Amino acid sequence: MAEQPTAHEPAATTDAAFLRALPKVELHLHIEGTLEPELMFALAQRNGVTLPWPDIAALRQAYAFVDLQSFLDVYYQGAAVLRHARDFYDLAWAYCERAAADGIAHTEIFVDPQTHTARGVSLDVVIDGLEGALADARSRWGITSAIIPCFLRHLSPEQAAQCYADCRRFGDRFVGFGLDSSERDHPPGAFAEVFAQLRADGYRAVAHAGEEGPAAYVREALEQLHVDRIDHGVRCLEDAALVRELAARAVPLTVCPLSNVRLGVVDRMSAHPLQRMLDAGLHVTINSDDPAYFGGYLGDNYAAVREAFALDRDSLSRLAANAIAASFADGARKAELTRALTSVTG
Ligand SMILES: [Zn+2]
Repeated sequence: MAEQPTAHEPAATTDAAFLRALPKVELHLHIEGTLEPELMFALAQRNGVTLPWPDIAALRQAYAFVDLQSFLDVYYQGAAVLRHARDFYDLAWAYCERAAADGIAHTEIFVDPQTHTARGVSLDVVIDGLEGALADARSRWGITSAIIPCFLRHLSPEQAAQCYADCRRFGDRFVGFGLDSSERDHPPGAFAEVFAQLRADGYRAVAHAGEEGPAAYVREALEQLHVDRIDHGVRCLEDAALVRELAARAVPLTVCPLSNVRLGVVDRMSAHPLQRMLDAGLHVTINSDDPAYFGGYLGDNYAAVREAFALDRDSLSRLAANAIAASFADGARKAELTRALTSVTG
């Protein structure tokens, strides 16, 4: 049974209420990965798109992923239903409703421009829809946000450069850029040139590394792409010198526990290296990655690690504080978020 605060207790006296009340920041969330099966089928009908699954039950069966690639195959097929600004609005709004319910105060969402432009959907359509929903979420719930386009690493560095050229006209409507998609055999260093350019242009940089790829990719992302954060990074533990360096530099790692279990990076939550990462002094944050596909949004991820590692309130607060510090929000917003956190944690 879900924990419910009684009428005589303040809201944050149960662990569930405490988690809900923590002002959370999400830093690793692919907006296309929030496409729930019900919305996917509704958009398919609205847009006359035929999906390769006859119904929602069949689609859910296709979620028995064995690795990252088996997920990406489903993910890219699902994204085909997104065609108009209204679709991107509906997608992002549905995520924001979940975010509000989870107590997310600030979110930095990834979008994959190439997934859409390759289908003839212009980036203006994508961004207009997303920005509309994010602006409405800010008005309604006070959730602040940023958009981080990611280059697909299974495509070429030249295609990433073309994507960047298309993105640049949006100026500061994007806070930074990332690198995602199939990690195996796609080392980050191949994208050094476009990352050098975008950093020279004043953008922040992040990259997926050390999820399925080796610890060496984490080092490569730091040394060749000069990223501000590493997305995932769990395999850094295979290189003790790298762990020491990440800890000393307080490089944020955007860890996604439920995703790691669903994609077989670890075989069960209790085997997740989160506790070891915390013990090593790494700047760990908790995130949901592709929640519609991996069985849980941000609140579920916090609850899963609390349960698996018996994390106390101090540890949960530290994870929330790490995410505030690692965000690309400005100083005033970070101070606001920190005050909100202190008011919950005392
Ligand atoms: Zn990811």
